[in-house]
Amino acid sequence: MSYVIPLWTPPALPLAGGAELFPVRRIFCVGRNYVEHQKEMGGDGRESPFFFTKSAHALVPGGGRVHYPPKTSNLHYETELVVAIGRGGRRIAPAQANAHVFGYAVGLDMTRRDLQQWAKDHGRPWSFGKDFDEAAPCSAIAPAARIGHPAKGAIWLRVNGRERQRADLADMIWTVPEQIAYLSEYYALEAGDLVFSGTPAGVGPVQPGDELVAGIEGVGELRVTIAPAL
Ligand code: MN
Repeated sequence: MSYVIPLWTPPALPLAGGAELFPVRRIFCVGRNYVEHQKEMGGDGRESPFFFTKSAHALVPGGGRVHYPPKTSNLHYETELVVAIGRGGRRIAPAQANAHVFGYAVGLDMTRRDLQQWAKDHGRPWSFGKDFDEAAPCSAIAPAARIGHPAKGAIWLRVNGRERQRADLADMIWTVPEQIAYLSEYYALEAGDLVFSGTPAGVGPVQPGDELVAGIEGVGELRVTIAPAL
């Protein structure tokens, strides 16, 4: 069979230090998974996290140039540990969850904060605030076979050389295994799915020309330059 329009290249992330690619199927993101970020977003720090999704086509593999998106005047960064699922499953127990992980990366959950806030205020979906072109820059994947399963370690972001976010992976409300277990109750997780595991406090706006460097101890770094709008 042939296709009636040209077939696109599947979204994929590079592997750290290798020539192979990790094909990406879906992107799940957890919201409000660090207490201090819950508080800066107006919560009391005690609510349960929750999930939303982004298209895999929003990835910017390996980082680089990210264009300032349309219809916003408040584009925010959110630095996050990204989990790459290597083996699918339903109703995965937390104790078994790490066995389903292929590896880890550093991601930015870019957010049109003004559109997200409008959606919250009007009881509408978050999609336009979270799921837009180039909304998911992500580093190369470091395989768990090499780095293990990081449950603690620094997560940080510098913008133009100034530190804007710094926390520890141990500060997550839902751990990565708990996130995988929860998601797998609602979805049949598949190899190729990604989970953006939430951002710590310190989120804020960026402008064209800004240089972002995000890092996670033991996982890697991600560099992004905000380019003028297309
Ligand atoms: Mn986020």
